[in-house]
Amino acid sequence: MEDSALHELFIGELKDIYWAEKHLVKNLPAIIKAATSQELKDAIQGHAAQTETHVTRLEQVFGLLGQRAAAKKCEAMEGLVEEAKEMIDETEDGSMVRDVAIISCAQKVEHYEIATYGTLSTLAKVMGHTEVENILNDTLSEEKGADYKLTEIAESFVNEHASDEKK
Ligand code: FE
Ligand code: ZN
Ligand code: FE
Repeated sequence: MEDSALHELFIGELKDIYWAEKHLVKNLPAIIKAATSQELKDAIQGHAAQTETHVTRLEQVFGLLGQRAAAKKCEAMEGLVEEAKEMIDETEDGSMVRDVAIISCAQKVEHYEIATYGTLSTLAKVMGHTEVENILNDTLSEEKGADYKLTEIAESFVNEHASDEKK
């Protein structure tokens, strides 16, 4: 199994998400700073702490697989973070439209992660790496939780307040 093409793809995808999680750890502080509402700042702050755990969990996974933890640049995550920065630049500081923009970008990030961890967890299962599968599922649940929380914030007040704002 360890020398199969599928195992190689699995390790490659782990390296990709490892880069992506570390990129988020670096870039989330600026996004938190740019957010308008305290609720959104707190939610992203909370998820930033979880993101550090996601990095640590991936290091555990590499260890369990007898691999050195290595990052491979994730072009997708780089692009998603780039777009978030652009949308922050294009929206007014202190506005609720700014929060709508940040939530939109953050949910794209969460969905990318959900897709990735979903695939990785399924592959770990297929290849019989049960402990790795469990670790990946812990992170998958937190990504889903973060996505849910963002929807809640958007629907509870952000979208409504943003719809009252003038250009
Ligand atoms: Fe994550
Ligand atoms: Zn990627
Ligand atoms: Fe996440």
